[in-house]
Amino acid sequence: MADTIKYLLEEKDIPKTWYNIAADLPKPLPPVLHPGTGKPIGPDDLAPIFPMSLIMQEVSTDREIEIPEPVRQIYRQWRPSPLYRARRLEKALGTPARIYYKYEGVSPAGSHKPNTAVAQAFYNKEAGVKRLTTETGAGQWGSSLAFAGSLFGLEIEVFMVKVSYQQKPYRRALMETYGARCIASPSEETASGRSILARTPNSTGSLGIAISEAVERAVQRDDTKYALGSVLNHVLTHQTIIGIEAMKQLEMADDYPDVIVGCTGGGSNFAGIAFPFIGAGLRGGRKPRIVAVEPSSCPSLTKGRYAYDFGDTAHLTPLVKMHTLGSTFVPPGFHAGGLRYHGMAPLVSHVKELGLIDAVAYPQLSIFEAGVTFAKAEGIVPAPEANHAVRAAIDEALRCKREGRSEAILFNLCGHGHFDMQAYIDYFAGKLVDQPYDEKELAMALAGLPSVAAE
Ligand SMILES: *Cc1c(COP(=O)(O)O)cnc(C)c1O
Repeated sequence: MADTIKYLLEEKDIPKTWYNIAADLPKPLPPVLHPGTGKPIGPDDLAPIFPMSLIMQEVSTDREIEIPEPVRQIYRQWRPSPLYRARRLEKALGTPARIYYKYEGVSPAGSHKPNTAVAQAFYNKEAGVKRLTTETGAGQWGSSLAFAGSLFGLEIEVFMVKVSYQQKPYRRALMETYGARCIASPSEETASGRSILARTPNSTGSLGIAISEAVERAVQRDDTKYALGSVLNHVLTHQTIIGIEAMKQLEMADDYPDVIVGCTGGGSNFAGIAFPFIGAGLRGGRKPRIVAVEPSSCPSLTKGRYAYDFGDTAHLTPLVKMHTLGSTFVPPGFHAGGLRYHGMAPLVSHVKELGLIDAVAYPQLSIFEAGVTFAKAEGIVPAPEANHAVRAAIDEALRCKREGRSEAILFNLCGHGHFDMQAYIDYFAGKLVDQPYDEKELAMALAGLPSVAAE
């Protein structure tokens, strides 16, 4: 009786709309500011880097945003994604809790990211764009956009953080298999890259630097735009398909979550699973406890400051209000590359400030321990990023055991770890350490935050 249970929807149940939480917020998001004038920007300011359809989604307050039919057709390849009840994990933990996980590793790139990559490629193609530039850390976003680009015949150029470019050849090979061009960042191809290299020739790069390079390339050519895999409102909106499906699947299970857990890098997969439930709560429904989980070596939500900051290192992006560690902050080396960003999605930061979510941080040894426990019980090897959510879900289940409570716990298993086995090899070899971030560096990065009159 203790075997895994799978809740499957049919193709016809793929949602027809994404959910936009802006419609239900008790207080609107603080405005996005122009880096030069400090004044709120308008849609036209973003036109050099994004197509207008996506800009309008970025500022929309409509509750439901229609999923274009061609995007739904592509989603059919892996959506609706399965929801599982982790009966074997429950048994292994001896918990009275019911643990559910939504599995996004079934997409071609192996994570939730194609949910937005396909949508962004569609809107860019529709706007006549020929080429998209982007950045990638560990390579998950780059490979997802490369996949989407191959579907729509778009040229894809990916600036990959140099240390990952050298250490993670398989994701790079995957991008190249889909036909994308992958460039180690910092590179000689942009002024931002050249200026970093002039100062630090051995720079191993960062996401902030790679974003600067990708944005710079996009503004140089009319036929080229930029795509971001997380953080922005429209990206979070695209990912809500995860939570909308999970709600229907929990109805099949005749259950409703008491606790919802997601890991947070830029915040998109977390928002994807959580926002539809937060929205239902804001409209008078039940209010589950919502937990965002981040690495303790890059703790933007738990240790960052809620302030206006740049999205990139060269300060080419607009200023957004978010939990930030400072745009110059470089976290110590750890294995969840997808969680290394200095900031957090403004929408996730905003709901945190409104008290609608909690945040916790875990060091990497404890998250790998949880990932191994999960893999032994359920068979799926989670991505290192996803292990953060697994850790918090297991801890919630153990709390239920101590308290003798039978709560329902839902978490997002945002990707598989098949391209990250080196991290598991290092973990088993005892080579992983819990490296705290440098307090002095954080203080310096925070001291460098831009001063903004509107605050
Ligand atoms: C990119 C990535 C993340 C982090 O990004 P979010 O926008 O916070 O979701 C987490 N998990 C996986 C598997 C990823 O690929």
